[in-house]
Amino acid sequence: MSRLIVASNRTANPGEERAGGLAVALGDALAERGGVWFGWSGEIVPRETRGIRLAVEGNIDFALADLTAAEHQGYYLDFANRALWPVFHYRVDLAVFDDAAFDTYAAVNRRFGRLLLQLLRPADVVWVHDYHFLLLGDALRDNGWRGRIGFFLHIPFPPAEIFAALPHHQRLARGMAAFDLLGFQTERDVGNFTRYMVEEHGAERLDDGRIKVFDHLIRAQAFPIGIDPDEVASMAESEEARTASNQLGRMIESRSLVIGVDRMDYSKGLPQRLQAFGRLLDEDERLCGRVNLLQIAPPSRETVEAYRDLREELDRLTGRVNGDHSDLYWTPIRYIARSYSREVLAGLFRLARVGLVTPLHDGMNLVAKEYIAAQDPQDPGVLILSEFAGAAERMQAAILVNPHDVDGMADAIRRALEMSREERTERWTSLMQEVRDHDVVAWRQNFLSALEGMGRDET
Ligand code: ADP
Repeated sequence: MSRLIVASNRTANPGEERAGGLAVALGDALAERGGVWFGWSGEIVPRETRGIRLAVEGNIDFALADLTAAEHQGYYLDFANRALWPVFHYRVDLAVFDDAAFDTYAAVNRRFGRLLLQLLRPADVVWVHDYHFLLLGDALRDNGWRGRIGFFLHIPFPPAEIFAALPHHQRLARGMAAFDLLGFQTERDVGNFTRYMVEEHGAERLDDGRIKVFDHLIRAQAFPIGIDPDEVASMAESEEARTASNQLGRMIESRSLVIGVDRMDYSKGLPQRLQAFGRLLDEDERLCGRVNLLQIAPPSRETVEAYRDLREELDRLTGRVNGDHSDLYWTPIRYIARSYSREVLAGLFRLARVGLVTPLHDGMNLVAKEYIAAQDPQDPGVLILSEFAGAAERMQAAILVNPHDVDGMADAIRRALEMSREERTERWTSLMQEVRDHDVVAWRQNFLSALEGMGRDET
C-alpha cells in the first residue's frame, strides 16, 4: 500500500494523545499505512530561523513548517480567516479583501509546496485539507509532482455568485483544478462548485461524473464527515460526564434543559438562537420557570472585530432575556464563554432534552452528531437542526429549522419540549443509524478509495 501524506494547516501534536474524531481518524490512517503529516508548526519565528521541524511517531513522520509573523498575518489571519472563511460561509459582507494578504497566502502555499515536495516519493498519495491550502496542489504541480492529490474542504462551498465575489477567485479556481479529487461535505457544495466551474470557466461535465476544466480532469464528490459514535457514547457514560450531569441536574431540578455548544463564530447563528428562546418565553408564560437554555460558546479568533461585535451582541441578548424573565429562583439563559472537556460535554448532551444546532451555514457540524451519539437510547432528547448545516442533508429525522426564522425556531423548541417519548425514540433511532453509517472511519476510507481508484493516468 502506498504511503499517505496528509497536509493540514494544523496537525495533531506529535507524541500527544489526539483529541477529536478527525485527528484520530487521520492519525489512524497514517499509522496504518505509514506516511507524513505535514502542516504549520504553530510557531511564529523570524525569517532567519524559519525552518521545518521533523518528528517521528511510530511510522508517522511529522513535518512541521514555521511561519514568520508577516506570513502568519497575511496567509492565516487576513486571507484565510478574514476573506475565505466569511465568503465560504456566505458572509461577503464581513469579508476583507486585500491584495497583499492574497499574495502572502499564495506565497506560503508555494513555499509549503516546495517543502512538501522534498518529502514525497513517487508512489505516495497526497491528501490536502481545507481552505488554508487551496493553492497547495498547484504549488506541488508547478514543482513537478505528477502523483495523485486529493483535497477535502471542511467548510461549505458557496454558490457561484458568492465565490465569484472573491477578487482572487479565478486564481483560486485554477489552483483547485490542480487536485485530482475534490471532496466536499454535501451534495449542495458539490453542486455549487460544479456550477461555478461551468459558468465561470466553461467546465464540461463528462458522463462518468468527472469535470474537464483548465485542461484538467477532476472529480468533485461529497464525503460527509462523521464522528466516532461509540467513543462519544462511552464518554457520555464516563465518570466525568456523570459528575457534571448530576451536579447540573441538581441545579436545574425538574426543569428541561435545552443546550447549545459552539465555537463563538458568526456562522453559528447564536443571536438568532437566543432571540428564539426569548421569543418562546415571551409567548408562552407556562414555560417560564420550567426550562433552561445552556449555551456554551468559547470565543475564537478574538482579534477580528466581527467577533468582538458578536460577543457584545450575545451579552446584550442574554441580559435582555434574563432581565425580562428571571425570578428569584430561576434564570432562563446560562451563557458560558469557555470550553469544556469532551467528556463533560457528552454528559451535558445526554442530560439535555433538546440540542439546539442552528448555524446560519456550516460545513457539517459535528456537534449535531455528538448530541445524537451521547443520548440515552431509552429516553433520548430531540435534535433541532439548521437546514443550512451540512449535517441536515442526511439528518432529516431532526426537527429542521430555518436559522433566520426566530418564530419558527421558537415553535420548534416548544414542539421538541412537548414531544412524546415514542416520537423522540423513533427520530433518534433513525438519526443514530445515520451517524453510524457515516462515521469518521467511513469518511476517510471512502475518500481514499475514491482517490486511489482514480489513478493518475485518467488526468
Ligand atoms: P467547527 O468545526 O465549526 O467548530 P463542528 O461542530 O463541526 O464546528 O466541530 C466542533 C468541535 O468542537 C466538536 O467536536 C465540538 O464538540 C467541539 N466544541 C465546540 N464547542 C466547544 C466547547 N465550548 N468546548 C469544547 N469543545 C467544543
